[in-house]
Amino acid sequence: MLSVKNISKCFGDLEVLKGISFDIHKGEKIAILGPSGSGKSTILRCINQLETYDSGEIDYMGKSVDSGQALHQLRQHIGMVFQRFNVFTHMSVLQNVIEAPVHVKKVPKQEAVTRAKELLKMVGLEGREDAMAKNLSGGQQQRVAIARAMAMDPEVILFDEPTSALDPELVGEVLNVIRKVAAEGVSMVIVTHEMNFAREVADRILFMEDGVIVEDASPEEFFEHPKNERIRQFIRKVE
Ligand code: ATP
Ligand code: MG
Repeated sequence: MLSVKNISKCFGDLEVLKGISFDIHKGEKIAILGPSGSGKSTILRCINQLETYDSGEIDYMGKSVDSGQALHQLRQHIGMVFQRFNVFTHMSVLQNVIEAPVHVKKVPKQEAVTRAKELLKMVGLEGREDAMAKNLSGGQQQRVAIARAMAMDPEVILFDEPTSALDPELVGEVLNVIRKVAAEGVSMVIVTHEMNFAREVADRILFMEDGVIVEDASPEEFFEHPKNERIRQFIRKVE
């Protein structure tokens, strides 16, 4: 469905992505692990076209997104949830969720509201539609962000460390919501340091180091038979 083909990227003299390739199949859940600075956020931003790349190609539904039409398709069908600053704090919870469907997808407002209420129920925020987003906890804001991404009915959601800015007691509620999204059949790419979560939810684990994917394996293989000492150390250190 989505193909990342040999993407390379430099920031000045620093080569942060050195030929990254992988495919995301329909419904697949991919976890990207790896040390700080290895290029995890950058590759997500390249996939989403929030960042340019120097070489390589991203294909969506078999077409390069360099062509305008595939890019338009990709933009409509890809969602992203960041570490923080995900919600429009000056808007209500409901306004956050209906904003993109109404203004980007031109969904009739009433239809968008009905869908938003279903999604807010899914993320455990039923009855909080009129609360101002700025008055919510970090965990609640992340759950609004997830409902907002889902409101566009995406094929893929990219998550960049969605729980790492949260207080520990709020992490579980957000992970639970991501589990529910996974169960809906949406493809996901999730950068996380939550090893147990990655192991449970992901179909595949990619391990990045210095701008290279050094391992692409099933969770069982990755955790039970780490390919090298570096990965073994990483798993031990984070757990
Ligand atoms: P972390 O786990 O800390 O989030 P990461 O794997 O997501 O790390 P990236 O944010 O992708 O790493 O960054 C990869 C490298 O690119 C780092 O060395 C970073 O300093 C550098 N970098 C990222 N964005 C920029 C930028 N806009 N300008 C210059 N250098 C950048
Ligand atoms: Mg990052």
